Amino acid sequence: LEHQHIDLNEVLHAVLTLTRHKLELGNITLTTDLSPVPLMLEGDINQLQQCFLNLIFNASEAMPEGGRLAVRTWLDPKSDTACVEIRDTGYGIPEKIQDNLFDPFFTTKDVGQGTGLGLSIVHGVVKTHKGTVKIDSREGKGAAFILSFPVISPAA
Ligand code: ADP
Ligand code: MG
Repeated sequence: LEHQHIDLNEVLHAVLTLTRHKLELGNITLTTDLSPVPLMLEGDINQLQQCFLNLIFNASEAMPEGGRLAVRTWLDPKSDTACVEIRDTGYGIPEKIQDNLFDPFFTTKDVGQGTGLGLSIVHGVVKTHKGTVKIDSREGKGAAFILSFPVISPAA
């Protein structure tokens, strides 16, 4: 694990540049609303990119007919955390499986379609970076993953 000072907005910008074309091909409209201030974290840029890639791939797989993907970042001054929300208009996540989603090899996809590792990697990256991840979803109503990470305090 490399520990660099990273602007979370730049990580998302890079990941969206990588995925923009794939989203367009999938008929997915992307909207972004990134905080105007840098969101500085200490962490590993490759791990963070992998984390957001996994979330965006899952979102696009949940919208096989297309839909909308909204990526938002903001600074929460109360908790000194940088927050990221990745929200889709896909098929959503039934409440009864929400506790299992982050388990390695948990998948609802057909054999050969999903490894069930994407969210366990997300969980690991969040943990390594002392962050949290929450799900906001209902079956049939789309899904949102909301991550937050402690920011480097200006005094540090
Ligand atoms: P995989 O994508 O290989 O199935 P993941 O760990 O990435 O494995 O995701 C686990 C499961 O979580 C998926 O099979 C799916 O049921 C559910 N899931 C994850 N993201 C979403 C999403 N955005 N919308 C609906 N379901 C999701
Ligand atoms: Mg996945």
